[in-house]
Amino acid sequence: MRSIPAAALAAMLFAASGPAAPQTGPPASTLIRHARLIDGSGTAARSADVRIAGDRVVAVGRLTPAADERVYDAAGLTLAPGFIDTHSHHDRGLDTAPDAPAMVSQGVTTIVVGQDGGGIDLAALFARLERQPAAVNVASYAGHGAIRDRVMGKDFARAATAAEIGRMLVLLKAEMDAGALGLSTGLEYDPGIYSTREEVLALAKVAASAGGGYASHIRSEDRWFWEALDELIAIGRHHRMPVHVSHIKLGMHDLWGQAARLLGVLDRARADGVQLTADIYPYTFWQSNLGVLYPKRNFADRAETDFVLSHVALADDILFNSFRAHPDYAGKTLAQVAALRGTAAAQTLMDLLAEPGGESAGIVARGMADADVERLIQWPFANVCSDGQSRGLHPRGFGAFARVVGPWVRDKRLFSLEEAVRKMSSLAAANAGLVKRGLIAPDYFADLVVFDPSTIADRADFGHAQDLAAGVRTVWVNGQIVFDTGKTAGVHPGRPLRRAAK
Ligand SMILES: [Zn+2]
Repeated sequence: MRSIPAAALAAMLFAASGPAAPQTGPPASTLIRHARLIDGSGTAARSADVRIAGDRVVAVGRLTPAADERVYDAAGLTLAPGFIDTHSHHDRGLDTAPDAPAMVSQGVTTIVVGQDGGGIDLAALFARLERQPAAVNVASYAGHGAIRDRVMGKDFARAATAAEIGRMLVLLKAEMDAGALGLSTGLEYDPGIYSTREEVLALAKVAASAGGGYASHIRSEDRWFWEALDELIAIGRHHRMPVHVSHIKLGMHDLWGQAARLLGVLDRARADGVQLTADIYPYTFWQSNLGVLYPKRNFADRAETDFVLSHVALADDILFNSFRAHPDYAGKTLAQVAALRGTAAAQTLMDLLAEPGGESAGIVARGMADADVERLIQWPFANVCSDGQSRGLHPRGFGAFARVVGPWVRDKRLFSLEEAVRKMSSLAAANAGLVKRGLIAPDYFADLVVFDPSTIADRADFGHAQDLAAGVRTVWVNGQIVFDTGKTAGVHPGRPLRRAAK
């Protein structure tokens, strides 16, 4: 069926109601012409024009410009839905840098925050984003760790009582009412690591009842990986709710090469009816704190330390990102710091952890094998995320999306360009529970990116982690241009995205 273009409709209405008022503000619609359209569904690229009016896509096909319409010539470049980062820490600093260059320069138009058990007071967050919006849309999970902290405070290193769990359920219900996408946990971190399976299961039920999902940085990404994965799958099975493995990884040398086994576990769970998905970033390095290397927090244990440095991350592969007591260690490896201090790596690690703030020193560490990351990212239910932020040493915050849609399609040939885009748009939207985003189709929000598939690439790397990606020409958020030819536009049409009512 053919619909009347919005601009033509507006012209007809004006004609019927007397002389048109002098035009102020933006044109009624924009026609994006001569695009190579990849609509986000995974279907093959095709030549098409796209009309946007207000904050929506209103028509897709072979279209002719209306009289008062702005025309954007895509000149044969690829037009895709704006990318959705389902695991982001880019909310840090977004209030002071609302242009969000790390994101929009890669074509990212929506970020999902409140990850790893963080995320609380969402009503206030969303109200602030309405008063003081950013260039990108922001959705959020409610965080188990933040809720647990509110209830248990400093006395967190134990199982919660039934009464404490009851108070957590009430807090989570309020966050779900405020529009949280679901519950996030960070079970490898304080205070989530001390929760029982029963506590997490009880909280997940509140998210499920509200129509939300469960996204987890699982209890172990190394030593007890399989048990941790089982905990997540059991939650999905028990509550019949969507469950999502955050930044899935085989994060220990002993696990390297087991991607096929992992995919077997994931596929069997799905075949069993569990609504199981994952996100993943395209790097073999993770970023966290020093304490996370010791799940028992036994920092003075020599045997544990030797185990960490031979199985989890090598001294050459642990890079200091930030260390309040030793700012000069930033950018140095543990091996280099050990040489500087004249102590063996294991002793150095224990000494640093004995210092105030040692446990929370920021590190980047190589924990994964290239072949596993490349195999896991191809899983049809794995969408792309950054796990990134706008500061720090890890390049993922400025490069994850451009890396996958560029070099990992062109050079590594892991999947087609259409599949890469699907993993960043419609699949990401589905996995996070976002509606009317992630596809280019009438009535969908006009979050769009025009990029050159032959040049798009990440430029951020270790040592220059904040270099903007190349190859993205123009980005729209809710119908407005936020990035064009290398520059942010200084407009902030991003919105808080609350969970859709079911
Ligand atoms: Zn995490």
